[in-house]
Amino acid sequence: MKLCAECRERRAALRRPRNGSELCKECFYLALETEVHETIVRTQLFRRGERVALGASGGKDSTVLAHILTTLNARHDYGLDLQLLSIDEGIRGYRDDSLETVKRNERQYGIPLTVCSYKDLYGWTMDEIVAQIGTKNNCTFCGVFRRQALDRGAALIGADKIATGHNADDMAETVLLNFLRADTARLGRCHSIITGQEGSLPRVKPLKYVYEKEIVMYAYFKNLDYFSTECTYSPFAARGLAREFIKDLELARPRAIIDLIQAAEQFRIQGDVGRPPSQPGTCSRCGYLSSQKICKACLLLEGLEKGRPRLGIGRVKQGAA
Ligand code: SF4
Repeated sequence: MKLCAECRERRAALRRPRNGSELCKECFYLALETEVHETIVRTQLFRRGERVALGASGGKDSTVLAHILTTLNARHDYGLDLQLLSIDEGIRGYRDDSLETVKRNERQYGIPLTVCSYKDLYGWTMDEIVAQIGTKNNCTFCGVFRRQALDRGAALIGADKIATGHNADDMAETVLLNFLRADTARLGRCHSIITGQEGSLPRVKPLKYVYEKEIVMYAYFKNLDYFSTECTYSPFAARGLAREFIKDLELARPRAIIDLIQAAEQFRIQGDVGRPPSQPGTCSRCGYLSSQKICKACLLLEGLEKGRPRLGIGRVKQGAA
């Protein structure tokens, strides 16, 4: 094995998928952490004293996010108050196990954990929803509920921002999907490192430029404690196809992932193309943020409670995880 291209002292332990450089573990950790730090500084992602809710699923992305942000917060004295926030969708054999991982992360990183469940917030678990609607539109319900649940949980703990573990591969997939769907409104904003400033809590994605393979390597070499089982109800056909396509692109040309994100960053969507910009307001039923009179979560709940789940689905086009 060659010497590390950076320190020239230790043996290289890996070849970085992002740029092919051969590094030892220590130089890889430092390179990746420094890149995330530079992204945070360049995009002014945080302000000193902010309370940041880290969306924590127990998976590799959110575990690496918690680890890196804890490290950088101490190393660069960001002055952030980090908190773990988990959403319990109520999926037996999946979320109950992954929540055990997050509880261990709470002790390992010394970050307080808050768990918000669909059952408490909406009166339904995902297991109960799937028992009623089957596995066709389950991710539509789950995505809408999770989005609101994260906002409600973050408000509960007094957070100023929500940070999620979305990585470069996730971003590239979303860009591609929105392009294929000709969803110009989402295409214009899906690449942003910070969203939701127009009303709800801002959401930030500090790992936006970090390749998934490098997140896996970082978690593996650091022996981080994370949960790697897929959700029991994870069909996600369209996103799965986009994911495979991007993996093939990456094989042929590793820069393809970053190039897709950077191409999207340069799109300029004309104001009169796509849907009109939504006006932030509040739902007349639950009082949470909504651009419509009744929010999507309430529409979906109404359909469930009437035993006619398609009532809400007709007006909600997107699934999300
Ligand atoms: Fe929810 Fe994701 Fe499972 Fe779909 S795949 S049901 S969005 S956790």
